[in-house]
Amino acid sequence: MSADRIAVVGGGLTGLTLAYRLGRRGIGVDLYEASDSLGGLAGDMEFDGARVDRFYHVILPTDDRVIGLAEEVGVDADLRFVPTGVGFFHDGRMESISTISEFLRFSLLSLPQRLRLGAFVAYCQRISSWEKIDHKPLVGWVSKLAGRGVYERMWQPLLRAKFDDGVDDLSATWLWSRTRRMSGARRNGSQEVCGALAGGYQTLCDRLAERIREQGGTINTSTPIDSVEPGEPAVVNVGGEARSYRMVALTVLPPVARRLVGDAEGAALQGTPNRYLGIVCVLLKTRRSMSPYYTINIADPEVGLTGIVETTRVIDPDGERDHALVYLPKYVNSTNPILDAPDEEILERFLTGFRRIFPDFDPETDLIAHEVMRARLAEPVHGIGAGAGVPGTFDEAFPGIAFASTAQIFPTVVSGQATIGLADAVLEDITARLGSEAAVQGDDLVPAEVGGR
Ligand SMILES: Cc1cc2nc3c(=O)[nH]c(=O)nc-3n(C[C@H](O)[C@H](O)[C@H](O)COP(=O)(O)OP(=O)(O)OC[C@H]3O[C@@H](n4cnc5c(N)ncnc54)[C@H](O)[C@@H]3O)c2cc1C
Repeated sequence: MSADRIAVVGGGLTGLTLAYRLGRRGIGVDLYEASDSLGGLAGDMEFDGARVDRFYHVILPTDDRVIGLAEEVGVDADLRFVPTGVGFFHDGRMESISTISEFLRFSLLSLPQRLRLGAFVAYCQRISSWEKIDHKPLVGWVSKLAGRGVYERMWQPLLRAKFDDGVDDLSATWLWSRTRRMSGARRNGSQEVCGALAGGYQTLCDRLAERIREQGGTINTSTPIDSVEPGEPAVVNVGGEARSYRMVALTVLPPVARRLVGDAEGAALQGTPNRYLGIVCVLLKTRRSMSPYYTINIADPEVGLTGIVETTRVIDPDGERDHALVYLPKYVNSTNPILDAPDEEILERFLTGFRRIFPDFDPETDLIAHEVMRARLAEPVHGIGAGAGVPGTFDEAFPGIAFASTAQIFPTVVSGQATIGLADAVLEDITARLGSEAAVQGDDLVPAEVGGR
């Protein structure tokens, strides 16, 4: 620990990418991670004797930053893309909308509604900049463009399931950005194609950690930072010890970052969201595949789930395993008491919803193992017109601190791709601030599409 090094707080994808990139530029880095493993939301966990994704993750063919980083650190050999199916549960039945021809027959919507939806998706591709739509409330915008019927039949249940019923504060930018990202998963406009690294994002995270160490950095897991004192040098308080750094990069979300810098008034990171989504997710290991789809969208509020994701459809497309991994996620506001509910209560609720869709699922015979996962701060929700105020890396009231959380990602959907872009952009800001001596020739980074810059 010395005042010419940088401390990176958080060992998720953002912190690891940033620490690796800093090290590549010859800057000494100490990374601190509170939990005993790296990867954060994108990491894996022990489950019934194997390592599995804590939450479901795929890589899209358009995720060039993820693919590029995987190639750069040499873990791309096992990156495999497969066509994936998408199901839609509505009116008590399941329908495939995996291909364009299936979508054209989609019975949730009337023919005129389907045509309007198609025109809306095409229109989203033509909108080149979020500035034009960010001040528009999502509900009114999509209702006008795609029709009230399309909104009420399709978007409303999906959005409510994703945003814990709170849809009135959403900007058109969210749906625009999401639609564009998912269209990128449909190669040639046909079936969705998704991929994963063997071992998931954890493989990338572990390799990044290796590279950080090789470059002279340190990785400190099970080391929660207690507080950070802004200044030059900035001081990290950890385990009763004060360690001085040239700069401290905080890759934690604003509620945590503010607590760490002792910012009770919330002066730092003005412009980042007030609302955050958490997630409660039940993982099932089942004896048989439950559906032919990677994801199932659900337009039935009684189910009480945001979707159903069978990751073995992507990580084991040939069905070589003797089981399937099925995730039952429910996004909720970070204040929702369900985040503190006992596992058994969550399991019972979620299985009841699951059996509404799969009535033949019998836990006695079909279920091998299960686990309940939670994350209180999973995703920021940017409000209407918030884009212009999304902050950048530095806040002059907090010298020596670089802020690098997913709340600064805008207008793109939070993903591994956007996260790596955020780390790259913060890297540029840090090296610019540290001065030209830090900038080593020959790096080929591209500035990211993030807000506040
Ligand atoms: C359910 C779900 C599904 C997703 N699916 C996909 C997908 O399919 N594809 C995709 O590309 N992306 C997906 N994402 C998004 C992806 O997981 C995130 O973009 C990415 O993991 C964010 O990484 P991060 O490092 O910014 O944050 P985090 O992963 O939250 O990392 C922050 C880290 O900081 C640590 N920390 C907190 N406080 C302290 C402290 N005081 N001291 C030290 N460390 C601390 C935490 O333990 C954590 O490890 C998904 C996310 C979720 C929640």
